[in-house]
Amino acid sequence: MDRRSFFMLPAAAVPALLTGQAGPAVQDPVEKDVPRTTPTIALNHLGFRPGVGRKMLVVRMTSANPPDRFLLRDIGSSNFRFIGDLTSTRGDLGPCLTADFTDLRREAIYQINVGDEHSVPFFIREDVWRRTLPKPVGYYRYQRCGVDVPGVHPICHLDDARRRDNGEHVNVVGGWHDAGDLRKWMDVTMLNAIALLNLVHNIANPRPGDPTHEQVLDEVWHGNRYFLKMQDTDGKIWHDTAGGVNGDNSDNHWTDNIVGTPDDRYINTRKIEEMGATFVTLQALVNQRFAASDSAYARLCLRAGLRAWNASARQGSTLALAWWTLAACELYRATFQTEYRNEAIRLGRDLMARQATAFLADQREIRGYWTEGKQPSEDPSAPPQVRPYFNVVFPAMPAYALLELHELFRDAPDRTRWNDAVRMHLDEYLIPISQRNPYGIIPSGLFVGQPTPETYRPLAGQLTYRYFMPVRKQFWWQGINSHLESCALLAARFAVLEKNAPGAGKQYADLAYRQLEWVMGANPFGACMMTGEGMRNPYPHSRFVGLIPGGIMNGIAGNAEDQPVLDEAYAIDWRTNEYWSPHVAYYLWSVSTLEMLA
Ligand SMILES: [Zn+2]
Repeated sequence: MDRRSFFMLPAAAVPALLTGQAGPAVQDPVEKDVPRTTPTIALNHLGFRPGVGRKMLVVRMTSANPPDRFLLRDIGSSNFRFIGDLTSTRGDLGPCLTADFTDLRREAIYQINVGDEHSVPFFIREDVWRRTLPKPVGYYRYQRCGVDVPGVHPICHLDDARRRDNGEHVNVVGGWHDAGDLRKWMDVTMLNAIALLNLVHNIANPRPGDPTHEQVLDEVWHGNRYFLKMQDTDGKIWHDTAGGVNGDNSDNHWTDNIVGTPDDRYINTRKIEEMGATFVTLQALVNQRFAASDSAYARLCLRAGLRAWNASARQGSTLALAWWTLAACELYRATFQTEYRNEAIRLGRDLMARQATAFLADQREIRGYWTEGKQPSEDPSAPPQVRPYFNVVFPAMPAYALLELHELFRDAPDRTRWNDAVRMHLDEYLIPISQRNPYGIIPSGLFVGQPTPETYRPLAGQLTYRYFMPVRKQFWWQGINSHLESCALLAARFAVLEKNAPGAGKQYADLAYRQLEWVMGANPFGACMMTGEGMRNPYPHSRFVGLIPGGIMNGIAGNAEDQPVLDEAYAIDWRTNEYWSPHVAYYLWSVSTLEMLA
């Protein structure tokens, strides 16, 4: 048992653990369904842009005689109101009533009434998402490690860290604490910097009120000081600092800031392909964004990226191929050298070969999802199986990488194929599966059959799905905000590429916003999961610095029946309530991409 699970235990179970006796069976504190007292109105708490994205009202049906109309009124003016019809909708995640008021474009602050229940007030205004950006950008300042953050924490972890393999001290001070804890994972905190640099690209001309480029680049520079230190002499990238020895939580603590004392934390010197590829992507992006303001620093980062590039054969998992494709694209943008273009195109072909373009698993309804290629079966005598790609943090990276290729190499022979692959992924997988529930969210992934003893929803043939991660497979399961926001990013990017096409990519923008709306309150709990925005924010699992404005928690997870669960009772449950960097990164990246749609 690690420290995380220890902290989750009900107090009654603790004495038995401390004395080594078997305790009572522990009921997981969050594994219960939506409480009866929760609001029935599920509407995102920010509101809507006048002309981009659908405006959907979802009301959970909790009685046999549900209301059939809603009242919408402008709460800043007594004159404007209208009454609309509610339509009964049967789908996954419970019976609901829905209404579409997309045609309302009048800018104002509104409230909806259904029966005697009021919604959270919400805006229709063009900057309704954009005006939130300073908070999530500011989140990273709270998470800075190795410096004094006034009002948050004194200077910390100046003794980071000692190598796990040989005990040698290496200066890896800096970076960001990753979550509601003090650990410094590389993959997801590098994603922070990548998202911030994409924000600078997407909002090329900041307006008053936007995060400034100077502020964003200063944050990236802070993070990257640590990432550069995590490169070994062979060019490869170490896995994490303070992630914990043997999968435990033992490094998750403040230290005395003195090198060589027993509280020093550890560097995990393990090296994996995904980490190297993410590092190259980041350094090539840093090179481009800093070239004008600090050319020496930009060159230094590019050299570091090239060392990591040259240290790898660029193979591996579907996720590794996706990141290597992105890395090749960014190196080409930084250098214009043909070798990176050629390698990007080769990687794109490998990535396309991992897409299920045929109808697999005895069905003819769903295709276009990514797979891990042929994997050994659990039964050694059976032939290898093609398993759907499942990753709740990086689900959209394979398709996103193909969009980068499509945008960058406009005369490449594969260009149409890249676009077609992503269109199939969206039109024949993500959009149809999102229509199986009234909230429009995309389930966490596809499965073949029932891999673990819990509910898998039948889809077609042997294909099944769960909205939420399996909870009977392993200790690690959690809320799916990164999954939803990563899919939002992909759909947003595709909408931007299609904005001049007939229909203007409208369905893709709709898909993107509905994923983000779930995070911001349009969910069965009526809870906004970003601190400092919306209402009914559950208290985050943030055991060291408390509330962080702009922090986004892991989000709604599921129980064994795949019904939504969320800790609203201060159980400090990390699975649903812990802050985690990638949720903030994808929020900034996807919202700023959607700002490119006028
Ligand atoms: Zn620290």
